[in-house]
Amino acid sequence: MAAHQLYLLTLGELAYPNPAKGAPERVPITAYLIRTARGRTILVDSGAPAALTGAADSGNRIPGASVSIAPEDDIVARLGKLGLRPSDISLLVTSHFDWEHCGGHAVFAEAGTPALVQRAHYEHALAHPERYDPALFSFPGWEYQLIEGDTEIERGIALLETSGESIGHQSVYVNTANGAVLLPIDAIPWTSIAQTREFPEWTEDAVAANESVEKLMEFALDYRTYTIFGHDPEQWASLPASPRAFNR
Ligand SMILES: [Zn+2]
Repeated sequence: MAAHQLYLLTLGELAYPNPAKGAPERVPITAYLIRTARGRTILVDSGAPAALTGAADSGNRIPGASVSIAPEDDIVARLGKLGLRPSDISLLVTSHFDWEHCGGHAVFAEAGTPALVQRAHYEHALAHPERYDPALFSFPGWEYQLIEGDTEIERGIALLETSGESIGHQSVYVNTANGAVLLPIDAIPWTSIAQTREFPEWTEDAVAANESVEKLMEFALDYRTYTIFGHDPEQWASLPASPRAFNR
């Protein structure tokens, strides 16, 4: 039976001085670490760029927004608290290439970590450098394994194609030792979107985003998951943080 362990990594905080439509004012920057039943170590996303560690300003990546990243919020520091080095990661899964999800990828490119992303998103991101900074995710000599659509990567761990907020975005399902969990990531960044469907202004395809919410909510019902939203400040604060394993 699957006995995966899930760890919730806090990699900083993002603040909107004038909250975007439907967005909370301050949101956590999140990533996830899965220790799998087969002994693999899977990292989902890598947080904001290390260069922003300790900085109060994200530059112009989101107009008017600022980040705060404490030294302990650095991905390498968070992994260290779990007794892991970047070279211990078996697989890096990317939800999408927005800067606060792939900003730590350079470390894993250097370590030669196997990496995986949806083909549709990879191609879209390369064609839209104005949103997806290739300096953060494209490194010579480091190739992504490109997948197409829903993919089970180990029994009880699946990647779900959830395009919309970004084209070719993917979410994650993991059947943990402490219950089944759905990680929509930015397909449902905070709880209220599931009800209001008021998608943030940076949503690339609102029709697809709506379909992805439907898909995820159906999946959550079918598999009786606990759903952890991508950037929900209240829910995130209520959950056990790494180095403690997820438990509900
Ligand atoms: Zn995000």
